[in-house]
Amino acid sequence: MRKKIVAGNWKMNKDYEESKNLVTKLLNICKPGKAEVIIAPPFINLLSSIKILEDSSIKVAAQNMHYADSGAYTGEISGSMLKSIGVEHVILGHSERRAYFNETDELLSKKVDAALSNGMRIIFCFGEELNDRKSGIENSVVKSQIKNALFHLPSSAWDNIVLAYEPVWAIGTGETASPEQAQDMHAFIRSTISFEYSEDLANSIPVLYGGSVKSSNAKEIFSKPDVDGGLIGGASLDADHFGMIVNAIQ
Ligand code: PGA
Repeated sequence: MRKKIVAGNWKMNKDYEESKNLVTKLLNICKPGKAEVIIAPPFINLLSSIKILEDSSIKVAAQNMHYADSGAYTGEISGSMLKSIGVEHVILGHSERRAYFNETDELLSKKVDAALSNGMRIIFCFGEELNDRKSGIENSVVKSQIKNALFHLPSSAWDNIVLAYEPVWAIGTGETASPEQAQDMHAFIRSTISFEYSEDLANSIPVLYGGSVKSSNAKEIFSKPDVDGGLIGGASLDADHFGMIVNAIQ
C-alpha cells in the first residue's frame, strides 16, 4: 500500500522561539498513526526542530536547496549542508519558488539530481495556474512540469520521490480544488507515470494534494483513491489545526 503523508510547509513564518513552541506542540499532538508527518520550517529553524523531534516519527524537510554542493552562491544552502544537520527531505518546485524566484523546470531538474545524489527524499511540487485551467490545458501543463524535471530519472530513483499537485489558483486563496478535480488530476498524473515507467511504479508513488487544505475539507479530499495525503501551507502553522488534518487520514 502507498504511504499516506501529511506535510506542513511553513513558508516564511515562525521565528526561532515560535518555531520551537510549534514543534513541541506537534510532538505531543501528532502521535505515530496512519500518516507519515513531515514539517518544513524555514532554514534557521531546521536544526532546533530536528533536535526536538529526535525521538519522534515526525520528519523535517527544507523548503528549498541549491543544486551545487558548495561554492560561490551567496545566500544559498546546499543538500550536503542540509544532510550535515540531519535534514533528509526537501520540498522542490513550489509554485512560489517558480513564480517569485524564477525557478524553471531546467533548474528544478538539477536540484532534483542534487537532492537525490545527497540521498534525500523530495517532495516535488507542480500545478497549473488559473488561466491554464480556464483554457483546459491543465493536464498538459502538469505533464510537462513532471516530465521536464523528473522523467530523466531511472525507476530506482523514484523511491525517493513524493509528488505534490498544487493548483496555483488554490494556494493560499481559500479556494480548494474539489475532491473530484483533485482525484481526476491525481489519476492523470499516475497514468502519465505509468506510461513513461510502469504501472507498478505509478501505483507506488505517493501523490499529495496541496492548496487551501483545512481541517474542514481534509477528510473529503483525502478520501479520494489517488490522493495520498496533503501538503499544507497556512493550516500547518497552528498545531491543533494541523493535528486535525493529520487525523483526517483514514
Ligand atoms: P495553502 O498552501 O495550504 O496555504 O494553500 C499550500 C502550499 O503552498 O503548499
